[in-house]
Amino acid sequence: MKKINFNQLNRVYKNHKLSFVSKFNKVMSKGIFILGDEVKIFEESFQKYIGTQFCVGLNSGLDALILAIRALDIKEGDEVIVPANTYIATVLAITENKATPVFVEPDSDYNIDPSKIEEKITSKTKAIVVVHLFGQSAKMEKIIEIKRKYKLYLIEDCAQSHGATYKGKLTGTFGDIGCFSFYPTKNIGAYGDGGCITTNNIELANKIKLLRNYGSSKKYYNDIQGLNTRLDELQAGFLNLKLNLYPQLLANRIKIATYYLDNITNRLIKLPRIQEYSNHVFHLFVIQTKNRDQFQKYLEQNGIGTVIHYPIPPHLSLAYKNLGYIQGDFPITENQSKTVLSLPLYDYMKLSEAKYVIKIINNYKE
Ligand SMILES: *Cc1c(COP(=O)(O)O)cnc(C)c1O
Repeated sequence: MKKINFNQLNRVYKNHKLSFVSKFNKVMSKGIFILGDEVKIFEESFQKYIGTQFCVGLNSGLDALILAIRALDIKEGDEVIVPANTYIATVLAITENKATPVFVEPDSDYNIDPSKIEEKITSKTKAIVVVHLFGQSAKMEKIIEIKRKYKLYLIEDCAQSHGATYKGKLTGTFGDIGCFSFYPTKNIGAYGDGGCITTNNIELANKIKLLRNYGSSKKYYNDIQGLNTRLDELQAGFLNLKLNLYPQLLANRIKIATYYLDNITNRLIKLPRIQEYSNHVFHLFVIQTKNRDQFQKYLEQNGIGTVIHYPIPPHLSLAYKNLGYIQGDFPITENQSKTVLSLPLYDYMKLSEAKYVIKIINNYKE
């Protein structure tokens, strides 16, 4: 029996050992570990890649979201529209700023359903946080129309959508601020925590630069009450390598995903759809099946690792008991959480590995 893990985070290192070792040596021997050249080069390269005027390196995707909301002055008493179907960090960023999350159901592509946003807007609504979940862009045209009509801020959670486009335009360029994560499993992953924001607004970029560094632009002179949420030099150095490799890594990810799409023929398995308006960068390859837990066990017994993204939606999470939601409040989200399963998909995954996964899946019977 072959063993296929859900992820293989050491494969990129194994294939590019010399580059990573020499980057490590370079940063260590230079002796600058915070806000040096590696961070600066990464910010410049990433803003160029995404096509925004500014990028600010941060410590994580959650920090990026927290600072984005804070920089826009969203606070207690304000409401923020957010997809019900997301990783909880999107919601934590709102409540960390003491604002109120207002959940909207997804459509069958897992992203926020634009036709259900307007009914949730009140006089307190300040912003929409859109998430491009699993690697595919949300339906941005309608969302931008709503943003303009109601004069709302738009924040994009791009933690899963590095390089994903909507009608040819990259995610992270649509909103007032785009928020990226470089957590190790993300499409562009560091070897520890990392994140950044992208924006075309110089004031927002400068404010977030202050916020990430104790509210200070000049050492020991503090203009606002900030935090410490900086991207460090070592991670930025590794990310500079990862960003250069990304076109090639992404091409392989898409090759494997396409291979799954073309060859998984078991009718019990609902495959993800690539929409005509987008590419799909397949951060995750998420299928749906009725007896999900039984299917997951079957794959496990055949040596195939899988993960559920996500088993408990934020509104039903213990952490948000205080919001008072109950089972049944967001039935589409809740149903997805009971039926979704993510298949193995990682950098340098081989076709032979995917082939084994496909064979086992096609042999599955209920
Ligand atoms: C990973 C993730 C985050 C948080 O990023 P971290 O770097 O882990 O803090 C936020 N939103 C989504 C959708 C994510 O997948």
